[in-house]
Amino acid sequence: MLTPKQLTLGAMTVIICHHRRSLLEFHLTSKQLFGQVPRVAKKSRKKPSKAAEESALAKSARRCALCFALKGDLREKIGQIAHIDGNRANSVPGNLAWMCLEHHSSFDSITSQHKNYTKAEVKRYLAALYRIVADGKHLSISASPQFGRGVSADRKILESISDLMVESGSIEFVRRNNFAGWSFDWSSLRGIEEFAARGGPENEFIDPELEELRKTLHDSCRQLLSILATNTFPIRDRQSVPDDWETDQPERFWKVVSEIDAMTDKVCCSYDDLIRNARKRLLA
Ligand SMILES: [Zn+2]
Repeated sequence: MLTPKQLTLGAMTVIICHHRRSLLEFHLTSKQLFGQVPRVAKKSRKKPSKAAEESALAKSARRCALCFALKGDLREKIGQIAHIDGNRANSVPGNLAWMCLEHHSSFDSITSQHKNYTKAEVKRYLAALYRIVADGKHLSISASPQFGRGVSADRKILESISDLMVESGSIEFVRRNNFAGWSFDWSSLRGIEEFAARGGPENEFIDPELEELRKTLHDSCRQLLSILATNTFPIRDRQSVPDDWETDQPERFWKVVSEIDAMTDKVCCSYDDLIRNARKRLLA
């Protein structure tokens, strides 16, 4: 006499034997028969159409909607096209979004520990980003709060440099002064000396291009001070390239004078370059 369990197993064996051919045709394994879900062939990864991809790139200007909405970051990002509904075969333009690599990877990953970004959320962020890009506001640095902080720090640096150079009179002094045969008051260089002595990250621009210009000005100021310190001497509380060099060593005299002239030109040009660019970038 067979127990109910043996009966069930017996019946299944009969069914399996009976359907053996058809089961083999379906490539079902015994594991799949006993409780495991048959494997379904993965949908092939269809590449988004060129036009749909171009549209997502153009509308976002390669800004990531999640970076923008969550961090106020409107910088261009290295990224990938994401499928908002998770279906790679659905490449209608509304389903595609340019995302930075970090956000694309977290948007695509499924984790029970953390509530992931939802489709509705991403669509909302995307719509807001597309409006910003359509209005051209992504091009304005101040549109991003993250950059706003950098801009206000850089404005302070700009202000302190121009205040120092203008109030001390040093920039006007090097712009106008003739060092051939004229003495000068060393204190006229106070602004340049003080700027040349300033170091440390608190005196650097956050904007890398402005920082390059600041360094050029800094180097020019140091070089000018070094030439003046080695080639001018105090005469009755003032400083001058020695007069007698002009008659006794004219070659030396004119060499020094032309070096000083070239270096004052360099200081003025690098100062003007920095101030012009910084005003354009920070105050426009
Ligand atoms: Zn991002």
